[in-house]
Amino acid sequence: YAAKRLHQNHVVYDPGFEQNRQTQLALLSDLRNAVAENQFVVCYQPKIRMKDGEIDSAEALVRWRHPERGWIPPGDFIPFAEQTGRLRAITQWVIHDVLARSVSWSAQDIRLTVSVNIGMSDAEDTDFVDFIEEALARLGANPDMLCLEITETGVMNRPKELLANLERLRMLGVRLSIDDFGTGYSSFAYLAQMPVHELKIDRSFVNALDHKFENVSIVRSIIELGHILGLQVVAEGVETESVWQALAVMGCDEAQGYLIAKPMQADEFKTWYLSAPMLPYTPPDMSVYDQ
Ligand code: C2E
Ligand code: MG
Ligand code: MG
Ligand code: MG
Repeated sequence: YAAKRLHQNHVVYDPGFEQNRQTQLALLSDLRNAVAENQFVVCYQPKIRMKDGEIDSAEALVRWRHPERGWIPPGDFIPFAEQTGRLRAITQWVIHDVLARSVSWSAQDIRLTVSVNIGMSDAEDTDFVDFIEEALARLGANPDMLCLEITETGVMNRPKELLANLERLRMLGVRLSIDDFGTGYSSFAYLAQMPVHELKIDRSFVNALDHKFENVSIVRSIIELGHILGLQVVAEGVETESVWQALAVMGCDEAQGYLIAKPMQADEFKTWYLSAPMLPYTPPDMSVYDQ
């Protein structure tokens, strides 16, 4: 079990980790102070509703602004933080920052649901739901301003412990999303009992949509599966107009990716949002597919 879990977190078998043991040890000690010293920065990447081009949500993506090493992407410290028991403090900081930002934005008429990625160690923690409930109350945030993303592989491996927490979160009114969908092996029966609102198709399938034919079938199946289960389907990693068009034809609900915008710091995101951005596509006329 441990080996499997470590493998999932890409820590132990990552050659970079073995080569840089010294660096990792230094990072671990730096990680202890990073929250207290306010070294994390949340970036926001918009999600677009495909049928009308509405920007109704965004994903919060954390970066570590290290005093000596500069910007460190989440892939280089989140798995490591989780494995060393330091993810909870980061998650709590991110959720606080995001809720405070959402409340301030909504006072300025910028109403978005913001998605936050959480680790399995967060989602399984019995105190996690209490933390979310308190944070929403303390900051005066509506529960539907918050969506929590958990990865498919995580959800798959520990269904029982998770389910009760997810049910409680749903009862609170928080939205739930399964991230990186298609990389695990969820069964239809299993998915049908998950109390989630959204599936996010993994970037690897979306990216190759216009040059790998089998991905068209995979993506179409995921969209159909999601819709049968009454879920909103999001494609992440949309980089080209041809991918956008293919997704639109297949009835995908939301798109996120560099075609629309890269993740931006809060101020830059706000400026972008308020500039009523000309999105780099023509919203497709879906009525032709309705007959
Ligand atoms: P994710 O949740 O699947 O997030 C999507 C990743 O794809 C982000 O990478 C985003 O910048 C990137 N991306 C978005 N659009 C495109 C595109 O069009 N092309 C390409 N090539 N990439 C695109 P990022 O920000 O480096 O985050 C990586 C992963 O780190 C996330 O994957 C998520 O699993 C994790 N992560 C990020 N922030 C947090 C956090 O606050 N807490 C936790 N637990 N995990 C986080
Ligand atoms: Mg995500
Ligand atoms: Mg994802
Ligand atoms: Mg992904």
